[in-house]
Amino acid sequence: DFSVSVPVQSHDELGELAQSIQTLANDLNYMKQERNDFLASISHELRTPLTYIKGYADIARRTNIRPQERTHYLQIIGEESERVNRLLEELFSLARIDQNEFLITKERVQLFPFLHSIYERVLPAFLTKNIELQLDSDQDIFVDIDPSRFGQVLSNILDNALKYSNEGTTTTIRAIKRDRNVVISIQDQGIGIPEEDIPYVFERLYRVEKSRARITGGFGLGLAIAKQLVEIHGGSLSVKSKPGAGTVFTIVLKES
Ligand code: ADP
Repeated sequence: DFSVSVPVQSHDELGELAQSIQTLANDLNYMKQERNDFLASISHELRTPLTYIKGYADIARRTNIRPQERTHYLQIIGEESERVNRLLEELFSLARIDQNEFLITKERVQLFPFLHSIYERVLPAFLTKNIELQLDSDQDIFVDIDPSRFGQVLSNILDNALKYSNEGTTTTIRAIKRDRNVVISIQDQGIGIPEEDIPYVFERLYRVEKSRARITGGFGLGLAIAKQLVEIHGGSLSVKSKPGAGTVFTIVLKES
């Protein structure tokens, strides 16, 4: 640790300097702790699928198992490899955002056709789960966005709406103008987020319920990525939720 002990209590310049050094040391320790926690979480996330992969590879190699069984084990190995791959891809995106290497190329985009293309892309998955998807947007809204990056933001949020909603519910994508801003909201009627978890959902690797997330397949990185991408666009992303009633994510952007 950066243990610094500067017993200077005076209120002159030297005292102020001692205070600054102390504050800096505290910040450094905090950052070091955060980095350690993050690495520990990633190691854990990688260990689980790798344990499955190794275990099932060992079983699949046995000579005395039925072909269907072997196919089943190989399928699990494939799925778990896919999971590792997804985690690495998401981590790589975040690392590039952190390095400011994430160049976005903004263009003036008419919002309705853009939202409609995303709507059409995700609709089959919603229909399969028997969740209604609605799009309600004014025609004459323009924004400056990088279509592919901004599309990723909406996909991440819509993926969650799908994952955390039950059949027979409705998810609504809305876009309206408010003052000189554009407000895009994605509202679901899903399980909602407990109040005590709300402050953390945009943090990296944060999941409301780890065991449930293991089944739904998330790493708790989707919203962290979405928020950073929205902020790179100069906008904001926020959430409101009520357990049992649903969740609404709101993006605010400047109008173009
Ligand atoms: P994940 O990939 O695990 O879904 P996210 O970063 O996208 O990670 O979301 C973080 C957590 O926030 C999720 O694990 C989930 O518990 C909660 N969450 C996000 N979106 C919703 C939603 N629409 N409804 C209920 N819970 C949600």
